[in-house]
Amino acid sequence: MENSQEEIEAGARILMDSKKVVALTGAGISVESGIPDFRSPGGIWTRYDPTIYATLESFVNDPSKFWSLARDLHPLLETAEPNLAHLMLVELEKLGKCEAVITQNIDNLHQKAGSGVVLELHGTFRSGKCVRCGEKCGFEELEEFTRKGSIPRCGSCGSPIKPDVVLFGEPLPPHVLKKASELAQTCDLMLVVGCGLEVFPAASLPILAHRKGGKLIFVNVVKTAYDHIADVVLRGKAGEVLPKLVEEYRKLSSTGASQRRHC
Ligand code: NAD
Ligand code: ZN
Repeated sequence: MENSQEEIEAGARILMDSKKVVALTGAGISVESGIPDFRSPGGIWTRYDPTIYATLESFVNDPSKFWSLARDLHPLLETAEPNLAHLMLVELEKLGKCEAVITQNIDNLHQKAGSGVVLELHGTFRSGKCVRCGEKCGFEELEEFTRKGSIPRCGSCGSPIKPDVVLFGEPLPPHVLKKASELAQTCDLMLVVGCGLEVFPAASLPILAHRKGGKLIFVNVVKTAYDHIADVVLRGKAGEVLPKLVEEYRKLSSTGASQRRHC
C-alpha cells in the first residue's frame, strides 16, 4: 500500500524536531539486497528449521548442520550489496539525523554502505571462537573453512569453532545490548526499519524508547504487533520509503531555513 504524502510529511517533521535519532534495523532492510528475511513466506526459517540449524544446543551436539546453513548462505552474504535503504541511513547520518544504527543483521551491509556507528545486536560472522576453550578465530580463517565446506576446529583443543553470531539460546553480547539500551532510553526518535519485532530483547528497544518519551517511526511492508505505539507507520519497502522520507526532510529543512532567513 502506498503511503499518503501526509504520512511521509509527518515522518519528516518528526525528523526535523529530533536532535538524537537512532535507527533499529532488522532482516527486512536487506531483503531488497537479495537476502531473504527469516519469517516472511520464502524466508530462511521456512527452509531451515531453526531448532536443528541455529540453537546453541544443536550446534554443540552437531555443528555440521549449522555449518551447512552457513555454507549455503555464504555466497549470498559475500556478494550482497547495500540497497537504497542502507544508503539513506548513511545520508541521514551526514545530515546529523542518525547517531547510530542498531542492527539485528549479520550481513555487514550497514558497514559496507558507510554507516559510522553500527551496533550488531546479534553478533557477526567476521570472527569466531572455540566453543570449549574460547580460542579466537579470525575472519580469513573462517572464510577458508566455509569455502572448503569443512567444520572449523580449534587449533589448541580440536573442538568446533562457532562464529560470533548469536544463536537461539545464547545471550546477546552484553556490551552491545547495554549501549543499545542506553541509546533507546536517550534518543528522541527511533527509526525502526524492516523489523518483525518478534525477537526479544531486540524488540524491547522501541518499547523502551517509547516509554522514555522518544518518538517512533516504523517502516515495514506489513503490520507489526507494536504499530499502535508508533507515532508514524510508513508501509512499504524500505528501499522505496526511506528515500521519500529523506527527500521530504530535505524539502522541509530547506523551506525552514529560507523562512528563517526572511524573518
Ligand atoms: P524477521 O524475518 O523476523 O522480520 C523481518 C521484517 O521485515 C518482517 O516484518 C517483514 O515484513 C519485513 N520486511 C520484509 N521485506 C521488507 C522490505 N523490503 N522493507 C521493509 N520491511 C520488510 O527478522 P528480524 O525482525 O530482523 O529478526 C529476526 C532475526 O533475523 C534477527 O535475529 C537477525 O539476526 C536475523 N536475520 C538476519 C539477516 C541478515 O543479516 N540480513 C537475514 C535473515 C535473518
Ligand atoms: Zn579450543
